Amino acid sequence: MWKSSFRLLKNSVKPRPKHLQWSNLSTQLQKTPTEVVDCVVIGAGVVGIAVARELALKGRDVLVVESASTFGTGTSSRNSEVIHAGIYYPPGSLKANLCVRGRKILYKYCSDHGVPHKQIGKLIVATTLTEIPKLRNLLDHGIENGVEGLRMMEGFEAMQMEPELQCVKALLSPCTGIVDSHSLMVSLLGEADNYRTTFSYNTTVIGGHIQDNSIHLHICESKDLEKCVENSSVRTQLILVPKLVINSTGLSALRLAKRLCGTHHGVIPESSYYARGCYFTLSKTRTAPFRHLIYPLPEDGGIGVHVTLDLDGNVKFGPDVEWIEGMDDISSFLNKFDYTVHGDRKNRFYPEIRKYYPNLKDGSLEPGYAGIRPKLSGPKQPPTDFVIQGENVHGVPGLVNLLGIESPGLTSSMAIAEYIVSKFLR
Ligand SMILES: Cc1cc2nc3c(=O)[nH]c(=O)nc-3n(C[C@H](O)[C@H](O)[C@H](O)COP(=O)(O)OP(=O)(O)OC[C@H]3O[C@@H](n4cnc5c(N)ncnc54)[C@H](O)[C@@H]3O)c2cc1C
Repeated sequence: MWKSSFRLLKNSVKPRPKHLQWSNLSTQLQKTPTEVVDCVVIGAGVVGIAVARELALKGRDVLVVESASTFGTGTSSRNSEVIHAGIYYPPGSLKANLCVRGRKILYKYCSDHGVPHKQIGKLIVATTLTEIPKLRNLLDHGIENGVEGLRMMEGFEAMQMEPELQCVKALLSPCTGIVDSHSLMVSLLGEADNYRTTFSYNTTVIGGHIQDNSIHLHICESKDLEKCVENSSVRTQLILVPKLVINSTGLSALRLAKRLCGTHHGVIPESSYYARGCYFTLSKTRTAPFRHLIYPLPEDGGIGVHVTLDLDGNVKFGPDVEWIEGMDDISSFLNKFDYTVHGDRKNRFYPEIRKYYPNLKDGSLEPGYAGIRPKLSGPKQPPTDFVIQGENVHGVPGLVNLLGIESPGLTSSMAIAEYIVSKFLR
């Protein structure tokens, strides 16, 4: 059974093992039911699900703990659904390596498992002569990262391919594609389930402590936590003692990492930053104006307001970058982020899009949806890499923190899972 609930999880707890040392714990924790388990994955987004599947395929017993009432309600269902090639990231970085590897295994997985996807290719465009050197830099990065088939094109050639496009030069990336992220998660989850993974929804990890050289996770039912947000008293209802725990909580991963007591705080990045990205959909158009994904050059915090097509041929533009304030830990665990797309933001979209799509008609943009990027660096700071920290870095036995898993996290998800299993499975 893959859909468990917090109550089922709590009722399955065995009597507390006698060998645990309780002397240093608070009275509250001494009375808390405790369960020793094999592997816990915290967070059922695409990355957590891919990691759970990979661990389960290796014969491990996996419990996925998710604060929401189902899987994939966070960033994994609020993105562009693009299978990135691996062009943008510094050579040798985790983003570059895991994106290129992730793309290859993702395409194969989608083909083998009937997950809807399409390798439609993408054009990154320079719309002014001053942008051309940046386009050349991207080409160099891409080649160094091992991205296949990249080709610089003259503007006229790109505009022949895409008659609605305006540009002076373009970089063609034929191996970029799109995927139905929900179907991907359903498929990965089904496999994990077949290999003894249990999913416990409405179940939130609120912190932890180290005892007898093992990490102890403090668990609370999400609905009780909702009440605590109001009166701010949070009570641990269950303790899980896993051999291996993967903190794959996306937007709240850094906050949770700081709450896992005993962690050497010096090695955990100081602050979380959040950059909301809004999408607008194209209405009043019968056929999509483009056949490829069209991207301008990257901007501070994102890769530019681009054209994305979904598998049904719908067109959306986005995401932009809006730096937003964080929130308290518990609210972030419960995904209380503001995903509102304010209609007036479209006034910024029109001029951005018209740089490469001059025929965009007035009144054709409708508010779509928003996603939020979990950032490890703030406005005007250089972008950071994915951070994957194990015991060797932070000193906590069996804990792996996945921090700053922003784009290309969807593309990289299966490669992140592979990386974790090869590096941290004992
Ligand atoms: C606007 C935007 C566009 C993007 N476009 C692309 C793209 O085109 N291609 C691409 O490759 N990548 C893209 N990305 C990145 C990609 O979407 C993410 O990297 C990926 O979805 C992250 O998955 P995740 O599982 O780490 O996080 P999430 O999907 O956020 O999952 C984390 C889960 O943890 C749960 N959780 C949080 N705290 C707790 C807790 N304390 N206890 C229990 N559960 C908890 C949450 O409820 C959530 O379900 C984009 C991201 C954004 C924001």
